[in-house]
Amino acid sequence: MSVFSHPAFDNHEDVLFCHDRATGLKAIIAVHDTTLGPALGGTRMWPYANDGEALTDALRLSRGMTYKSALAGLDLGGGKSVIIGDPRREKSPALFRAFGDAVERLGGTYIAAEDVGTSVEDLEEARKSTRHIAGIGEGGAGDPSPATARGVFAGLRAAVRHRLGADDLRGIRVAIQGLGHVGMGLAGHLHAAGGSLVVADIFADNVAEAVERFGATAVDPATILFQDVDVVAPCALGAILNDQTIPRLKATVVAGAANNQLAEDCHGEALRARGVLYAPDYVINAGGIIFISHEGPRFDRDRAMAHVESIGETLTQIFVRSAREDVPTNRLADAMARERIVAARAARAPVALAG
Ligand code: NAD
Repeated sequence: MSVFSHPAFDNHEDVLFCHDRATGLKAIIAVHDTTLGPALGGTRMWPYANDGEALTDALRLSRGMTYKSALAGLDLGGGKSVIIGDPRREKSPALFRAFGDAVERLGGTYIAAEDVGTSVEDLEEARKSTRHIAGIGEGGAGDPSPATARGVFAGLRAAVRHRLGADDLRGIRVAIQGLGHVGMGLAGHLHAAGGSLVVADIFADNVAEAVERFGATAVDPATILFQDVDVVAPCALGAILNDQTIPRLKATVVAGAANNQLAEDCHGEALRARGVLYAPDYVINAGGIIFISHEGPRFDRDRAMAHVESIGETLTQIFVRSAREDVPTNRLADAMARERIVAARAARAPVALAG
């Protein structure tokens, strides 16, 4: 397993391999870039098939966090951590305290938060060993999903305005894939704004709830992406925009919460070639981290939500520049994130060494 020559290494500042003999903790903390501030990113616990898979996940997710925070205008860098293990069988309070020790060793350059496979309780344990934990406790912003849903709604509205020229969502048809924490919240916002919903989830209860509360039409999960709608909102899995699915899309806008929606970067170009406006995932789904970035003793929920709404303006800038510069939206977003980081580096005064 290579690290420095790993395809996703991309100039990471730190990659910490953590092991604790007593608890069996095996974790990787990846700190991609701290130019804009400490690297905030979730802690994922997953039964990776091997160490290489865990490293790849940590490196890719960590770089994604750098770009997400940069484009959200936050003074935060990008990082992510993964704990190798089955969250249903291998958790213990001591394991998370040992993980907290590892976070502490990075001296605040990495701040951990909840992610797939970890809970508020787990992070409360980790916090017994380190202060560098976000999203929990007093002054904590709590569950970020409602803010994520609100941000996706703001982004979807901006995309509809740009592609369809519609200032409101009345009569706009949206297909939502996945009715979990974010998808159900998004469905509520769209319904309240007069949108018409087609939905799918692998859990019948979720589907029944959306049908009852929002008058949604339920379809087979295998067909949700190919519905005759204006917008597809992926709110479940990654890599769903690929060589097989893109040619079958009927919607002209893709705007949803799921992470890593494009199977590969080149699929951004494939969407553009088909006339589909793609809202880059890490831009439209940044509501949660924007919300968390406001936490502290003077946490102001309304101010935080207003900041979340600015995702709409950021996306509009991306859409306009993408059209003007003839570049797919995903590549443009990456370029804009890098521009902000490079400018911040350049603005730093050179350090004079005392001699
Ligand atoms: P969740 O687990 O609560 O919901 C996902 C839903 O998708 C579940 O109801 C699940 O049954 C459904 N699903 C799974 N496979 C499906 C399929 N093949 N077809 C249809 N439905 C399917 O997760 P969430 O917190 O709502 O997050 C949704 C997506 O948004 C994830 O990709 C997540 O990484 C991303 N995201 C979430 C947040 C957040 O604040 N929760 C922030 C940023 C990004």
